[in-house]
Amino acid sequence: MPKQPFACGECNRILPDPEKKNDPPQCMHCPGAPVTTDWQGFVVILDPHRSEVAKRLNVSDPGNYALKVNIR
Ligand SMILES: [Zn+2]
Repeated sequence: MPKQPFACGECNRILPDPEKKNDPPQCMHCPGAPVTTDWQGFVVILDPHRSEVAKRLNVSDPGNYALKVNIR
């Protein structure tokens, strides 16, 4: 089973794997934001200005996002 990637709790971005395998990655757009592997709904946003999902998630950059991120 492939490992679940981390997602940013602030902007919902799916984060790339960290270079050091045991460290959780840090969102480069939200320094200090919590990150978690507890998220659902992988979405790829190609054109944020034409995407309803992008509006809902309040994102303005294309990329991979989680629909829902569960932060305690
Ligand atoms: Zn972020």
